[in-house]
Amino acid sequence: VVNQTTPHRSGSVAVIGRPNVGKSTLTNALVGAKISIVSNRPQTTRHRLLGIATFAAGKDAPAGQIALVDTPGLHRQQGKFSASAMSKVMNRAARGALEGVDAAMLVIEAGRWDDEDTLAYNVLSDAGIPVLLIVNKIDRLRDKSALLPFLAQVSQGRTFAGVHPVSALKRNGLDALVKELLMLLPEAPPMFGEDEITDRSERFLAGELVREQLMRQLGAELPYATTVEIERFAEDTSLKQGELLRIGAVIWVERESQKAIVIGKGGARLKEIGSKSRLQMERLFGRKVFLETWVRVREGWSDDETALKAFGYE
Ligand code: GDP
Ligand code: MG
Repeated sequence: VVNQTTPHRSGSVAVIGRPNVGKSTLTNALVGAKISIVSNRPQTTRHRLLGIATFAAGKDAPAGQIALVDTPGLHRQQGKFSASAMSKVMNRAARGALEGVDAAMLVIEAGRWDDEDTLAYNVLSDAGIPVLLIVNKIDRLRDKSALLPFLAQVSQGRTFAGVHPVSALKRNGLDALVKELLMLLPEAPPMFGEDEITDRSERFLAGELVREQLMRQLGAELPYATTVEIERFAEDTSLKQGELLRIGAVIWVERESQKAIVIGKGGARLKEIGSKSRLQMERLFGRKVFLETWVRVREGWSDDETALKAFGYE
């Protein structure tokens, strides 16, 4: 029986899976804030990022803190984008996330298991840590009776510490998941303050929120040719209205023709990217934001290891 005197638990859990299964959506849902960007395009997440989820003791769950390591999706390196230096950096970040974690969640999509899921499973089963299978997007299952046979098929010949059908989007199944995650973690005091939600700076998150709009608003291959650099991030307290963040973002593209597309007719596209990013920043930071954006060209940045380092890709 868990009660007030049950020891606090804390530790870290890697969130692993192929691109687009909902790893970042799940991380955000557990943290309770949008710290990791989400889009319907694969490979939206490029960096490893810590989401910190803190829970008070529940009816039959201990108090605890879970440091969730959200990762770029593990994917096969094939095709033009996937063979690039960026793709290698992303796979490295996903594998590196397993170092020192107490457990992992393998996230898959309900009703679907393919070669890239097998790749992710194999990486995890080599890591020697408990692995929870998270079957996400159950809200999309038209035939609910297909779920049990699917779970049986996926578990066949594989070892999981637990299986959780969830909808990260609709927040279904998360209470049971949190409880089981906490029970996998060691008894230990919190590693972070109660109101800390990520290890990343506001400056980093600001860049990600602009990149999220690029992923969402630009068609086809173009998002993969862009990155964002925050040139300025300054708190301005000189105003009567209270604190204001002045943020300057540079959107890097690889060619002049791409620059024209990002800017759009009469600057319309860039304006839309800017205003949506600004709203997201104001929501996350709880402050007014003044955002300026520029588009600049740097040829071949996504396939240039030195440029990647300069743009903050480890
Ligand atoms: P990641 O690449 O694994 O981090 O996936 P994201 O979190 O970026 O999500 C990819 C897409 O799946 C986005 O369009 C999400 O809105 C969507 N998605 C994530 N979780 C769910 C879910 O539980 N149900 C549904 N219907 N869509 C989801
Ligand atoms: Mg992601």
